[in-house]
Amino acid sequence: MPETERDPVVVEFQQRRKTMLQNFLLALILFALGLAAKQFSEAIDGFLGIGRAGWTAAAIAQLIAGVVFALRGFWQYRCPVCNEIVRAHDRYYLGTAINPTRCPRCGARLR
Ligand SMILES: [Zn+2]
Repeated sequence: MPETERDPVVVEFQQRRKTMLQNFLLALILFALGLAAKQFSEAIDGFLGIGRAGWTAAAIAQLIAGVVFALRGFWQYRCPVCNEIVRAHDRYYLGTAINPTRCPRCGARLR
């Protein structure tokens, strides 16, 4: 079905869903980088000319950024009709439905 003939609610929701998944992916990458930075700081002192404290600070900054991205993705993952965060009791993903057919609150078609 061409994009223009689709229900605007579905199109809008799928866009939010994409943003949510991208933000979670980014959060995972930031977590991985943060853990890698922590490993480097413990294994090699002064790696790339940065001391242990610098690597620890970088690791913490990356972990915090990861949490912020994950929360932002979660926060905007709402039903376009009733503006409620789409939660589910099955297929958990931080309590959200990853690919819901309908909004659990107002019943709007989302897919
Ligand atoms: Zn709704």
